[in-house]
Amino acid sequence: MKPKNKFQQQVFEWSKKLPAISETQVKWAYQNCMLHIAKKTKKGLTCLECGHLWQDKNSDEKECVCPHCHTKLQIDGTRRRVFRDYEYFCTVTVCGGFQVLRFFYLTIYAKAGKKARYFHSEVIQRWIAPNGKSATIARLRALTCFADTWRFETALEIRPEKPLYNAIPTAVYPRQKLIPELKRSGYKKPIDKVTPFDLFHALLTDNHAETLLKAGQINLLNFFVNNGFKHITNYWTSIKICLRNGYTVEDASIWRDYIGLLRFFGKDLHNAKYVCPTDLKAEHDRYVKKKREWQERERREKAREKALEDEIRFREMKSKFFGIGFTDGVIEVRTLDSVEDIMTEGDVMHHCVFASEYHLKPDSLILSACINGQKIETVEFSLSQMRVVQSRGVCNKNTEYHDRIIALVNKKMPKIKRKLAMAA
Ligand SMILES: [Zn+2]
Repeated sequence: MKPKNKFQQQVFEWSKKLPAISETQVKWAYQNCMLHIAKKTKKGLTCLECGHLWQDKNSDEKECVCPHCHTKLQIDGTRRRVFRDYEYFCTVTVCGGFQVLRFFYLTIYAKAGKKARYFHSEVIQRWIAPNGKSATIARLRALTCFADTWRFETALEIRPEKPLYNAIPTAVYPRQKLIPELKRSGYKKPIDKVTPFDLFHALLTDNHAETLLKAGQINLLNFFVNNGFKHITNYWTSIKICLRNGYTVEDASIWRDYIGLLRFFGKDLHNAKYVCPTDLKAEHDRYVKKKREWQERERREKAREKALEDEIRFREMKSKFFGIGFTDGVIEVRTLDSVEDIMTEGDVMHHCVFASEYHLKPDSLILSACINGQKIETVEFSLSQMRVVQSRGVCNKNTEYHDRIIALVNKKMPKIKRKLAMAA
């Protein structure tokens, strides 16, 4: 990609002036980023760095030092023969007034009996101006679900500012050069689980980041760098209370949730008693429990209100049919006259008459058919069609009385309805 604007052009020009990585840096990188293996066989230990073979005396050790090249080695007693590894190494430097992060991709290929093969290539440069404006120079990285490969034959060019080029290095070279703005921010060394770019960018663009770093609130800093500083103002009063009380937040995401819960319950977010709990986890859990109980109460209250409303609507629509009952001598049919009766019918009969709110359908009249007080089927009668729409036994199964029930209701109900109409 060709530089698209003056800023990128400037960065691109400066990047040509960067020196190559030094031998010392490469050596340090391999020592500090890579796993170094001593292969254990019947013959003894083989150093996969230099190929030296020697007899080990203490066979239970997990680590050793090669007597020939003096590399600290992890002893591998498995049958594995080939060891490959790749890591990112980062150097922090200054060029043309920019803060520059240079990322090197390192690989090692080691095989017992052979000298290890190394390869390194500079793959990314992140350039950050003192005002936080940034540009990326990188090789092409092919990232698909199947492969993550650097195209080493491609040139270091301007690339889009994408997460693809926001690497977390395995190690950062300890001799760092910083622009004055970063030096003033108190930055000394990388922070776990935060990319150096994100950290530098935050320190250069948000004063909160600098305050957190200087106060040693690394966990909070980490959290806000990774989640964005957009909402930090919502927590800043409480964070200031922590700073004033020398309270270090150990788990920022739990603390953030906890503050949210305190806010929900209207607690004083300026009060160290709440904001700086000795046992954060326990207090957090206590408030989570409290919130759940509140939600449960809320749910029950809503259900109660709904039932009350339903009862009123149900009465408005169906009360003129309340108390209707008739029998053919065996089967007794009667209307269900309250929401609670409908609910019980649904429970006893294991069907959805209540859940599907048949009682609130203006056209449906729900009746229960019983024999000797025992519920047999539930009947839905259509007031507009003047006929039974459905009749259901336990679990929606028909009983031997099914047809008889339908016939009975179809015979009696229209008469009753006519009587009611005349009375009205
Ligand atoms: Zn060696």
